[in-house]
Amino acid sequence: MGQSRRTWPRRLLAACTVLVVGVVVAAPPAQATHGSGALRSWQLRKAVTANGVLHHLKELQKISDRNAGNRASGSAGYDKSVDYAEKVFRKAGYRVTRQAFDFQTFLINSPSELERISPAPGDLEHRIMSYSGSVDVTATASVPAGDPLGCVAADYGPANVGTIVVVSRGTCPFGQKATTAAAAGAAAIVMYNNVPGGLAGTLGNTFTADFGAVGVSQALGQELVAQVPAGLTLRVHTDTYRGMATTENIFAESRWGNPNNVVMAGAHLDSVPEGPGINDNGSGSGALLEIAEQMRRTHPKNKVRFALWGAEEANLVGSTYYIANLPQAERDKIALYLNFDMIGSTNYVRFVYDGDNSAFPPGTGSAVGPPGSGAIEALFHNYFASQGLASAETPFSGRSDYGPFIAAGVDIPSGGLFTGAELIKTEAEAAVYGGTAGQAYDPCYHQACDTIRNVSKRAIDEMSDAVAHAVITYAFDTRSLNVPASGPASGSTAPAGGGGGLHDHEYES
Ligand SMILES: [Zn+2]
Repeated sequence: MGQSRRTWPRRLLAACTVLVVGVVVAAPPAQATHGSGALRSWQLRKAVTANGVLHHLKELQKISDRNAGNRASGSAGYDKSVDYAEKVFRKAGYRVTRQAFDFQTFLINSPSELERISPAPGDLEHRIMSYSGSVDVTATASVPAGDPLGCVAADYGPANVGTIVVVSRGTCPFGQKATTAAAAGAAAIVMYNNVPGGLAGTLGNTFTADFGAVGVSQALGQELVAQVPAGLTLRVHTDTYRGMATTENIFAESRWGNPNNVVMAGAHLDSVPEGPGINDNGSGSGALLEIAEQMRRTHPKNKVRFALWGAEEANLVGSTYYIANLPQAERDKIALYLNFDMIGSTNYVRFVYDGDNSAFPPGTGSAVGPPGSGAIEALFHNYFASQGLASAETPFSGRSDYGPFIAAGVDIPSGGLFTGAELIKTEAEAAVYGGTAGQAYDPCYHQACDTIRNVSKRAIDEMSDAVAHAVITYAFDTRSLNVPASGPASGSTAPAGGGGGLHDHEYES
């Protein structure tokens, strides 16, 4: 088809294109004939393409390439990302506003190093802990003299002074371990996982000590601990910037629609300082930019407000600031909030936030979904089922920008999609969704390799259509939020599984 088409006269081709469009409008497929809502959804999904989303991802990659390889809030790469989004939204005719706020940023000046000097010299696989200070130390390694978890001062003794301590994850936050080790006179800290896999964590944005901290896998940690009695010597080099910085959220609001019934859809625009953040979260941002563009001629019944958040990776700072500074009267006008954080993972599963807590009851790792959140979840499951696509559930954890929206006293119905982060795909999931069991959903999660090559075009295509369906459906009618919905909808065939990953920097043990 592509081959023969090339030989057609240009004018004929143009005429055919017009004809095809005419036919499409006159005879939509069966699923679109059940009412104007279904037709609108179908039309928007036709217009929203994977290539359209990928175009934005390529632009974000270019911005990262020209600005030190990342788009973290507080960096030039982030500011340029906001400029880019503003240009796209304005061109599509939206009312655009920026909201600036200050926060404690964390940037990486040069890649961190963890080196084994002896025995068996060589570079060791590790991840810098967010908010680590800058150090370059070579010293004997030690383990805490007392409890190996190193949470309290009593765990340390004179033998740890001046050494690089190797400490297990567990019981207390990473920041507490680092603070305690620094106060005990250690030179740096290496924390190792207490479950299989690497360790990336944050010391928290209140950590300001001149002290270096890196994370390693459980296997490497145990290896190092075993070498301590034989006189293990390590080198830790971290080169970072911590300080107050101004960053921004950006909003684009439709000029049409009831301002007292606002449909919000958001994604964080910032990356981690380790890399360009194309799946996390160029993918969610790019999908919203594409959808906003394709809705530019839509006159929605309800006001549609797109939000791109800053400083999500520094612990939901932008969305928290927005909600904290939004008067109650304005909060009351928000009918619902949709969140899209990572929707292009290469080894993906179609995860829907478990808004009715049916798969992940409130408690460890799951917040209670405000009323209406179950209806949003059902809308997504039903949509996927209508396309013959399975969908699964991910904990309603609040560990992305919907957290402040679902907080007690705010209680805005929320929902969203996720294609998986650092956790490992199960055999059962691979049987339903394809991909590779035993590998992470996103093998480049929070790393330098989260580039334009780290997204699945198919995931982007399927998920951006689901996003489009939800946005356009609620843009015209939010009444379904009042219909109680619970349990996975019919057609949701996949097991709940682990839910794709924690998708944030782990604070706790
Ligand atoms: Zn994210």
